Amino acid sequence: MSVMIEPGKSEEFELTGGALCLDFANTLGDRPRSTEEHLGGYDDLLRFSRQAGVLTAADVDEIEHLVEEHPRSARTAFRRVIDLRENLYRIFSRLARGETPEAEDIQSLNSLLHKTLQRLELRIQGETLEWAWDETAPSLERPIWPIVRSAAELLTSEEASSLRECASETCSWLFVDRSRTRRRRWCDMSTCGNRAKARRHYQRHKQTQSSG
Ligand SMILES: [Zn+2]
Repeated sequence: MSVMIEPGKSEEFELTGGALCLDFANTLGDRPRSTEEHLGGYDDLLRFSRQAGVLTAADVDEIEHLVEEHPRSARTAFRRVIDLRENLYRIFSRLARGETPEAEDIQSLNSLLHKTLQRLELRIQGETLEWAWDETAPSLERPIWPIVRSAAELLTSEEASSLRECASETCSWLFVDRSRTRRRRWCDMSTCGNRAKARRHYQRHKQTQSSG
């Protein structure tokens, strides 16, 4: 397995959610049909984390070694990654619909949060201090720590009330609406927004033709 990524060049994942946890939840698209799976295995997760900027090339190297040495543990870890993704999607899509998340889903997230926060520490960076991950021992769980933290931060922030689900029937992606008017409807205007616009244009055109 080799994760080849040239930063800034390979744009395999569309990161339009406005928060790491939402981009992660969006790695399965077109949810009613579940036809757009972007996370087929642990290597895809590494590519996602690299593109999202939460793992360095050195982190990826270390984790790849772990995956090669412990393939069975990596498969188990990957199943937990997918469970987390579906858990996050349920929580955020309920919020996007103005509903309260299920207590059970928050409980599962909390159990991961406990483990994640144990790995959070302060690091001296020049004259200031910053949050960092304890990386004394490489871990197959490393890619999910920043995702879990991002989810907890978003859920407790004011932006939790600005969560939206893309209005396209074939999308279902989640995003934070930071538009000035708070009326953003599409995950991405250049894809879903344009498709909807083209459809409306086509329908109007057809109506004009049939009435004329
Ligand atoms: Zn969309």
